[in-house]
Amino acid sequence: MPNPEKVVKSEAEWRAQLTPEQYHVVREKGTERAWTGVLNDAKADGVYRCAGCGEPLFDSDTKYDSGSGWPSFTQPAASTIVEHADTSHGMRRVEVRCAKCDGHLGHLFPDGPGPTGLRYCINGVALKFEPA
Ligand code: FE
Repeated sequence: MPNPEKVVKSEAEWRAQLTPEQYHVVREKGTERAWTGVLNDAKADGVYRCAGCGEPLFDSDTKYDSGSGWPSFTQPAASTIVEHADTSHGMRRVEVRCAKCDGHLGHLFPDGPGPTGLRYCINGVALKFEPA
């Protein structure tokens, strides 16, 4: 579905806005090293926004400790997530992107807890936490 509020920026604009690590993850589909993200252990109430465009992506009440070393969520906050088949690195995975700015966020795995059974495994640098 087309999104009229889509955020489109040049690579130079993204480079200027993001830190080098954020740029690598969000625009080049990189992965931060496990256990290095400051948000991995975060437990406060609030909303996790896209580091690229500020769109609210996940609520803190869907965050759980997956033991993976990356912030993990059972479901997105709204329909602002798009999923793409990703066969890079010899794996079949589902890539998770921000629908508004197309920023790479992480991957979706079918080994999560609770009713969804899903794990949104997200790079902490792709998120900005806003306390409630
Ligand atoms: Fe975004």
